[in-house]
Amino acid sequence: MSGYGSIRAVREVITDTLKAEGRNPNAYNITGIARDAFHDRGRGWGYGAGTEEEWRAAVDKHRRPFGIGDMVRVVVTVDGGHTEHHYGRISQFRKANGGIYRGQPVKPHSAYIELDHHTRGWLGPLADVTPALDDFEIVREWGEVHRGALNPNGYFHCLRCAFHTYKGAQVLIVHKRSGQRVRVCESCFSDNELARLGHDVLFYERSSRDTIAELRAKPELITAPASDSHYAKSEGETYREWADSFPWMVPAEAAEMYAAWKQGLATAG
Ligand SMILES: [Zn+2]
Repeated sequence: MSGYGSIRAVREVITDTLKAEGRNPNAYNITGIARDAFHDRGRGWGYGAGTEEEWRAAVDKHRRPFGIGDMVRVVVTVDGGHTEHHYGRISQFRKANGGIYRGQPVKPHSAYIELDHHTRGWLGPLADVTPALDDFEIVREWGEVHRGALNPNGYFHCLRCAFHTYKGAQVLIVHKRSGQRVRVCESCFSDNELARLGHDVLFYERSSRDTIAELRAKPELITAPASDSHYAKSEGETYREWADSFPWMVPAEAAEMYAAWKQGLATAG
């Protein structure tokens, strides 16, 4: 158990740990976390860190609901009834009737959120707003961050500053719903990277709408024969390449047929 000499040292450690987890320390009641997840060891022995469970519980309990500038995700319904996940920052709190609060509201009802990839901002109840961080897994364990690296050094570079530095990536960001991931260094890591990856997923989904509709109507297209030519892909090959790149979007029936098709190849080959 690590020890800290003063409550001030405890607060610093909490702030650093929150940042390392990709959280905005301003969104937390640090004193509350210190009280619940650290223990005064008495007799001038300072403070000890509690268990992992105590830390998790304290972080959940002491997150301030939302603040101006928080990066969040909302669901937007677009033409054709499709839904899209958009990321943006809270720019204003609003009353239930859309009115503006005078001063700082204690329990705001709604929020206005600036969206970069939509024709207008989003206004709606905070109950429908999700902290961006909830959509992602943030990994810092070296072996995990660099698993599968094929370059001769055996590690991945930071996606943003690969050309300026030889240091490896330090943070792996995984978009939970799609499994899409990026690797960056600590100095490039921020909630803007979360939004950027989330929007990449959104663009893949936008450009895949026709393919999804086709496979929903005719799932057997995914097992259509391969082309005889090296120069042109068959319809089946095109669908299979798409499914390999974007597995989270493949409609259930087509996904089942594709899995069986691959299984057949494995037994035949
Ligand atoms: Zn970097």
